[in-house]
Amino acid sequence: MTVDTATVLAGPPAAAALIASAAGQAAHLPVVPHLVIVRVGEDPASVSYVRGKAKKAGDSGLRSTVHALSETTPQSDLLSLVASLNSDPDVHGILVQLPLPGHIAEAAVLAAIDPDKDVDGLHPMNIGQLWSGRPTLAPCTPAGVMALLAHYGIPVAGRRVVIVGRSQLVGRPLAGLFLAADATVTVTHSRTRDLGTVTREADILVAAVGRAHLITPDMVRPGAVVIDVGINRVVGEDGKARLTGDVHPDVATVASALTPVPGGVGPMTVAQLLANTVQAARQQLSQTSGVPGDLVR
Ligand code: NAD
Repeated sequence: MTVDTATVLAGPPAAAALIASAAGQAAHLPVVPHLVIVRVGEDPASVSYVRGKAKKAGDSGLRSTVHALSETTPQSDLLSLVASLNSDPDVHGILVQLPLPGHIAEAAVLAAIDPDKDVDGLHPMNIGQLWSGRPTLAPCTPAGVMALLAHYGIPVAGRRVVIVGRSQLVGRPLAGLFLAADATVTVTHSRTRDLGTVTREADILVAAVGRAHLITPDMVRPGAVVIDVGINRVVGEDGKARLTGDVHPDVATVASALTPVPGGVGPMTVAQLLANTVQAARQQLSQTSGVPGDLVR
């Protein structure tokens, strides 16, 4: 007996297309879009993510600067740095890498970033814009998921979407983007009862939890599109650590299409950050020099 397996929705080609489109737009600008990333402390995952983002920006023809601050940096110093970046016309995008050390209030820092330079889309004003269905700088992972679906020609309008996870970084903004794209959206979370009954309703199922293999084949409607946002480090039987998603590999026998981990949503997140930086630069230039900077995408 042969078992059908899902189409693999690979991230790298979709990410390359998104970056090429952004670089094409940047080429028409009178300046090179400049992304500034601020990292506080030495969290190994953050160090690696920031290095990857800065390298990809450089490889894509954008300018990037990293400010690496010590773990003990006072909140007031971080806010002063953000204020100086806000007022610097040479800076188009500002990203403060999360999580921040416990003594710093993340919400206060995110709210201090100029919304026009908020390439992570986490300023309250940009969250409000997203939820009112207006074009805005949207958080990179959710916007990257939408770009991935668009790249592979997967229709969204009118379809039932179930999102597992309601974080401010992924689940909530993704719900807003799907709603703006005319999907019927359900958001589930750690207190959802009988999760499988809800997930089986999905035409498009998104897992954004951080629990290895939480989504098993019995939770997926045959033919559904499954997007795995989760990144989990697990130790295999050979004793080696590897990355795996929130979706059990056997879901490939039920779903029509599935994103791999690694190599699925991850590259889209970085590509979307660069696209947001170009969009922010266009918008700022349109305010000062009349270069078209519409935020529609
Ligand atoms: P989070 O911890 O902030 O949120 C997790 C969410 O999952 C919460 O809303 C919680 O209610 C829900 N949840 C927890 N247990 C559950 C359960 N048993 N059933 C249903 N829901 C449950 O995490 P996050 O920042 O949203 O990240 C989620 C995952 O996505 C993590 O693995 C993270 O590493 C990954 N991630 C990947 C990218 C990427 O670029 N690929 C970007 C951001 C996050």
